[in-house]
Amino acid sequence: MPNQFKKSQTQTSISSTYTSSSKNEIDFIGVFEQAPAFMATLRGKNHVFELANKAYFQLVGHRDIIGKPVLEALPEVENQGFTEFLDDVLKTGKPYIGTEVEIFLQKTSTSQPEKTYVNFIYQPLRNESDEINGILVHGIDVTEQVLAREKIKESEEEYRILFNSIDQGFCIIEMIFDKKNKPVDYKFLEVNKVFEEQTGLVNPTGKTALELLPNLESHWFETYGQVALTGKPLRFMNGSDVMKRWFDVFATQVGGKKSRKVALLFRDITAQRAREKELIESEEYFRQMADTVPIVIWITDVIGNCTYMNKQWYEHTCQKKKAALKSGWLDATHPDDVLHVKKTFQTATKNHKPFSVEYRLQAKDGSYRWVIDSGSPKFDNDGNFEGLIGTVIDIHARKLTEEALQKNELHLHAMINQAMVGIAQADLNGKYTFVNDRYAEIVGRDKAEFLNLNKRDIAHRDDLQHNLELIKKSIEDGTDFVIEKCHVRPDKKDVWVSNHVSLIRDRFGKSQSMLVVSVDITDRKNLEEQKDNFLGIASHELKTPVTSIKAYCQVLEMMFRKRGDIKAADQLKKMDLQVDKLTYLIGDLLDVTKIQAGKLQLVEEYFDFNELVNEVSEEIQRTTDTHKIIKKLSISKSIFCDRERTAQVITNFMTNAIKYSPEADKIIVSTKVKKSEVILSVQDFGVGIPKGKQDKVFLQFFRVSGSKQDTFPGLGLGLFISSDIIKREGGKIWVESDEGKGSTFYFSLPIKKIPN
Ligand code: ADP
Repeated sequence: MPNQFKKSQTQTSISSTYTSSSKNEIDFIGVFEQAPAFMATLRGKNHVFELANKAYFQLVGHRDIIGKPVLEALPEVENQGFTEFLDDVLKTGKPYIGTEVEIFLQKTSTSQPEKTYVNFIYQPLRNESDEINGILVHGIDVTEQVLAREKIKESEEEYRILFNSIDQGFCIIEMIFDKKNKPVDYKFLEVNKVFEEQTGLVNPTGKTALELLPNLESHWFETYGQVALTGKPLRFMNGSDVMKRWFDVFATQVGGKKSRKVALLFRDITAQRAREKELIESEEYFRQMADTVPIVIWITDVIGNCTYMNKQWYEHTCQKKKAALKSGWLDATHPDDVLHVKKTFQTATKNHKPFSVEYRLQAKDGSYRWVIDSGSPKFDNDGNFEGLIGTVIDIHARKLTEEALQKNELHLHAMINQAMVGIAQADLNGKYTFVNDRYAEIVGRDKAEFLNLNKRDIAHRDDLQHNLELIKKSIEDGTDFVIEKCHVRPDKKDVWVSNHVSLIRDRFGKSQSMLVVSVDITDRKNLEEQKDNFLGIASHELKTPVTSIKAYCQVLEMMFRKRGDIKAADQLKKMDLQVDKLTYLIGDLLDVTKIQAGKLQLVEEYFDFNELVNEVSEEIQRTTDTHKIIKKLSISKSIFCDRERTAQVITNFMTNAIKYSPEADKIIVSTKVKKSEVILSVQDFGVGIPKGKQDKVFLQFFRVSGSKQDTFPGLGLGLFISSDIIKREGGKIWVESDEGKGSTFYFSLPIKKIPN
């Protein structure tokens, strides 16, 4: 490197250059040397450095420049335009002023040229002849100020970008106060891009608030004025009716107290406010609705805290307003129920599942009432669990009824189990649903067994078909029925029962199940069997001697009549009639035992029906002096039946008609042919049969009791046997009667019957 940047001797050179100068000149040199502005003088066309002060050396890096042309002394300035200006000043004599001119100067021998800013003046220098022979360079280094300003500008630019890139409104306002220092308006100094969108104010910069919005509410001035005066930042939300907007504002003072400037960072929250208002209104609507329904409604949050309870809760419980919130509502729950209820709620909250729980709740009067509390999970639109919502309903009355019912049921159960009769319930298919102890005992099984049993499983197979038919009919007709049947016990003992079967219906009248009341009649059945056996044997044994007596009677009567002993003969005749009655009785007894044993044989044949009626009538007429048998017979028909048994039925009708009409003098026997059957009737004008007893006269041993009836002899077997015969022949038997006026007994028989 040349000596260009060797330590400068400038100061000495200046002093030495002017050593011969006057005092004033020396002062000038001092001033020149020490001046804060840089100064140098250039001479000649090549602008050779003649003088340079300390500040100039500082500017150019203390180089050895004196006596050197500019381009040699400061080679880096070539092409920076300065030499051209210098040439121009020399040529024109006009000074050149440069302001904040950028110049790159090499400050040290090793460094790169540095950017430097200078304010300078090129002033022409003249000799005594007023010719321009040099230039005074005079200026100041303003690099620091320019760079600082640029930096500020840069950071300002950054802030501007920042403010313009945020989605919130931003502005700087300057408060305007009146004479009494009251804030009355403000001026917009700066606004960001979204300001217009957030406020609706167009091109506000430079304008005042009242210019833009003449009726703007004064509270804005007051609030911002306060921030400007106190310097305390403020965050608030407020609305402007004039602007029809709501804002969330942060206001802070900028630029110190005296600046009266306030920066506002704000957001238009009009839509949000509207949404909130809507929400509040809809919540209010829900609350009002919830308060009017007659049940308690509650809401809990995600962790199970009660966040809402409607009016009804406070009206029905002992709690004061808001006391139910969080877990307060548990305080009104019966202490014995709290644990269970709490657990139920916790589980439902944890699992997001619906639930229902019954517990006691303390009412206003302090008493505890039963309620049912049911809840369901609620989820937001994205399916996130929000908590539970539910209702509480008073079920106290129902609960008390249930308890009473339960008690009654227990009593009833005890009663049913202690009953002397067997009681069972079965569904319509016969499956047992309940049996009492006695029923199990009768059937000889364990109670638990019945849950898997059907009524068919224990029925005797002989009874099964008949039993099923009766059940079917009962379901169809809705009537109860009684059946005597045999059960098969596991111990192989047969048990006879009399079952009264009735149907249990629902409230619509539909049959639901069967109720069976069962009485063990095995003993009675055994006695009946013994009795039947006895009757069978007795009547059989009686038949032979009675037949002999009858034969002897008739022989004797004949003998006495031949001898002319008419009186004795007549008495023997009467005796014969009594023997006939005895024969009938024995015959009836025998028939009954046969019917019971299923051994009553029918010998069927074709015969003329009217002929039979005539025969029987004649025979009966012979036995009575009191009654005339009047016959009203229709055309004759031949039927296929047991002739003798049919005669037995007609005989039974006629003898009864005579027997039960002692005051009358006739009976009427009629026959009719109707479609495919013949009908016979025997009418009398006797005591008649009361309405309620007319059906029963066909039952075994049934006799109508009554003052007069008791005087008539009989066993109550004739109609039972007749009924059995007619039914087995495929016919029907019935009676029409008026008590005190007389009766008509009927039977019908099919004309054509396919022979068995
Ligand atoms: P018995 O006449 O032997 O008692 P039945 O079986 O023939 O038995 O009759 C049954 C009952 O019916 C009688 O006891 C009587 O009370 C009543 N009865 C039958 N026929 C008549 C009738 N013609 N008039 C009134 N009651 C009658």
